[in-house]
Amino acid sequence: MSMDEMEDFRKTHYTKDIIPELIGKEVILGGWVQNYRDLGGLKFIILQDKFAERQITLKKGVVSNDLFDVKVGYQWNIMVKGIVKEFKKAPGGIEIIPSQIKILNKTPQKLPIDMTGETVSELDIRLDNRVLDLRSKKNQAIFRIRSEVINSIREFLLKNNFTEITTPKIIASATEGGTELFPIIYFEEEAFLSQSAQLYKEQLCSVFENVFEISPAFRAEKSHTKRHLCEIFTLDVEMAFANMQDVLKLLEEMIQFIIKDIREKRLDDLKILNMENKTIVPKIPFPRYTYKEIIEKISTEFNINVEFGEDISTEAYRKLGEVLPGYYFIIDWPTSSKPFYIIPYKDKPELTESFDLQKGYLELTSGGTRVHNKEYLEKRLEEKDLNPISFESHLRMFDFGMPPHAGAGLGIDRFITVLCGLDDIREAVMYPRTPDRLTP
Ligand code: ATP
Ligand code: MG
Repeated sequence: MSMDEMEDFRKTHYTKDIIPELIGKEVILGGWVQNYRDLGGLKFIILQDKFAERQITLKKGVVSNDLFDVKVGYQWNIMVKGIVKEFKKAPGGIEIIPSQIKILNKTPQKLPIDMTGETVSELDIRLDNRVLDLRSKKNQAIFRIRSEVINSIREFLLKNNFTEITTPKIIASATEGGTELFPIIYFEEEAFLSQSAQLYKEQLCSVFENVFEISPAFRAEKSHTKRHLCEIFTLDVEMAFANMQDVLKLLEEMIQFIIKDIREKRLDDLKILNMENKTIVPKIPFPRYTYKEIIEKISTEFNINVEFGEDISTEAYRKLGEVLPGYYFIIDWPTSSKPFYIIPYKDKPELTESFDLQKGYLELTSGGTRVHNKEYLEKRLEEKDLNPISFESHLRMFDFGMPPHAGAGLGIDRFITVLCGLDDIREAVMYPRTPDRLTP
């Protein structure tokens, strides 16, 4: 079967740019056949591109017979040259009367997932056929919002004198402890995929002061939950001459800024996701609860006992999310549950200057004030049963005038899940990686 070539056809407009001022003008559109209908003497093709759709109208006698006989199928890739015409009943009040249609690529007769918007296929089947799936209205809305959120984070932080850094994702040793790392073969050596930018961003604080990075991080956890992935996308921030309180303030202001921004620029997308009344600008300051207050609340209100120092269970978080559905901080975590680089309080060494930012039941961010004194950091490593020698290259950087600093890591995929009202984190990522998914 022969297919048309593009030849000298070039898109003159996106669907969104076909406005009433163009009535009577010739345009060339390119995209995919979202739907088509044959009413005998009248045929409609709904062409979608990355922004929206337009109706192509083929009327017998108006278009050439050859053109009228053109066959299309769902999601075929086509280009259309035609005249813009006013037609009240068409979507957007405009239709295109074609003079030429190029069929650039076809699809199988039966698509693996429904693309007409009538039914939603099962998530795993959708992920198996991800490019097709991503063309749905809902997915286009999710990823336009995701793109805007990332843009908005940059805008906010750059405006606040942060410098964007890029740190290596291939690292030499299992640095932080805690999370499992993915080993890789680096020529003749073993290396690892980075679990976070933690140590590098701290180092760079002693140069660029306030820094941020937006990058992937790799977590070799066999978690089968709707909030865990093996490859995540995170925002790391680190501030020099600052402590936890400064980071809390930065984060709540940033979240407020981002939500204002997407409501301004992506309200149509929030509407597609039915989130226009749910993703609303939160009031600041966000409430701050101490870890102790939270475990007491969990005990008295839900009768779930958490010993001091223990993690809060998923069940307890779920219940907490019912009574605290908004954004809030849990501060002052036990020293035993936090990594070596988090600073304990001077007067209460069993507690650290650390926090999680929650949205309801879901943890979005962890952070805190860091240890900036080298001797103390070595002591903290030993207390955590880690060997200072394996941190030698990191510790050396603390000899060169490391300022006091504090920061946080925010899971962008989880944040998108919240903003878009998604049930499963895999929906917030174009190509999710989980313990049982490595393709596409
Ligand atoms: P959790 O306890 O929920 O597994 P964590 O405390 O191990 O998360 P951190 O190391 O604090 O995670 O990472 C910072 C942020 O990155 C988290 O608050 C979360 O938003 C995100 N994050 C961490 N691990 C994952 C993961 N496996 N999948 C998706 N997001 C993650
Ligand atoms: Mg955490």
